[in-house]
Amino acid sequence: MTKIGLEIHCQLTKLESKLFCSCKADYRSFEVNSNICPVCIGLPGSLPILNKKAVEKAAMLSIALGCKVPPKIGFFRKNYFYPDLPKNFQITQYNAYGPTSIGYEGKIIIEEKEIRIRRIQLEEDPGRLVYSGSSEKTQITLVDYNRTGTPLVEMVTEPDFENPKQVRVFLNILADLVENLGIADPYLEGAFRVDGNISIEKGNRVEIKNVGSFRDIEKALHFEITRQQSLAERGIPIPAETRHWDEARKITVSSRSKEEEQDYRYFPEEDIPKIIIEKALLDGLKKIMPESVMSKKERYINKYGIPVQVAEVLSSDKFYSDLFEQSHTEKNAKEIANLITTDLKGFADTKEQREQLKLTPKHLLDLADAILDNKITRNSGKVALQEVIKTGKPLSEIISSLDLGNVDDESSLVKTIEEVFIEEQKAVSEAKQNPDTINYLVGKVMRKTKGKANPNLTLDIIRKKLDSQ
Ligand SMILES: [Zn+2]
Repeated sequence: MTKIGLEIHCQLTKLESKLFCSCKADYRSFEVNSNICPVCIGLPGSLPILNKKAVEKAAMLSIALGCKVPPKIGFFRKNYFYPDLPKNFQITQYNAYGPTSIGYEGKIIIEEKEIRIRRIQLEEDPGRLVYSGSSEKTQITLVDYNRTGTPLVEMVTEPDFENPKQVRVFLNILADLVENLGIADPYLEGAFRVDGNISIEKGNRVEIKNVGSFRDIEKALHFEITRQQSLAERGIPIPAETRHWDEARKITVSSRSKEEEQDYRYFPEEDIPKIIIEKALLDGLKKIMPESVMSKKERYINKYGIPVQVAEVLSSDKFYSDLFEQSHTEKNAKEIANLITTDLKGFADTKEQREQLKLTPKHLLDLADAILDNKITRNSGKVALQEVIKTGKPLSEIISSLDLGNVDDESSLVKTIEEVFIEEQKAVSEAKQNPDTINYLVGKVMRKTKGKANPNLTLDIIRKKLDSQ
């Protein structure tokens, strides 16, 4: 069985300052090496001071992901040498001596599958290496320390994913969550970075690093599954290793051998005292947090009887769920959920589509009511919705100008059905023998009325007419 676990780094891009100093967290707008100070580049004698807002944001995320938050958190030094790390250690959190990271043992449910969150830790980002030319051939590597000390959270999942698609769904929910919570803009370059651990049946664990966009992780995992399977089929052992995602070639390539945990020589960061997380702080955060995707989904299912899959699609996208919240009534909630997830989805998925969208919550409300009141069929509803998306005209105007109103008038429907009976004599006699074929006649009536006939009424009249013949 394929097992996939994730390590997700998410910068807290909504914060003003870095994790341990007053340099700007938004390092992107600065000239190289100008957003730095003695603390973030670790000059001797400098002392870190923890950013309280960063603790609060990370705690919010922990709560939202169902994690436990310990009463006391602590920081550790993770020692390693790398040019982007001027102190030669990274200040992070570590749970080997009991849980002291901001969150642990959480879970999130996607597509009926529980994904366990092992821990969430608050840590500082290192600097950035800038290569001149492609990273493989270049002789010159430059270092920009503006990013050093930027606050980020690392989320580590258990290896609970069984396929790349689950990973994608999870990451979409997570990206939405950090955006809704006001923690980060996950679409900023470098703000949301994902590493994956993957193993197939009996194979060793391979780590994929360096996936620049979180959309690429799905591709990287697919590639890795195929690569590992083809090795296994030929009886070649799969070595435990770290591989890098080569974005240009869309393949993973073997890279440096992975450090073992003991290589990092974790030890407590004594420059930062233990921080007590009071219950009052957590209660306060819970009050100001927007409803989580998970509880939204539960509410849609339990309160309105919306099917699980529809509720999942609806709740996982803030744009669509906001639209739902603003348009639904008790009576039409299910219909609106359907309209959004089947007819609107695909036409309002991207930022550009959303900016151009002329549809308002009122349109959706009117449309759902028109369908439920049998004023138009679902098919005509689809056509009307397309017109609304493009023009933003009131629904009633669209229904009359495109002539989409239901043919509810029995006498005109009877006339159409009589025509069909004359044209389709063979089908009529078949339908008399075998009632299962009656739908063929209903279909003919629908075509003649351009899909506007009330299907139940049509079926009724046809049945009566067959009986009486
Ligand atoms: Zn600084």
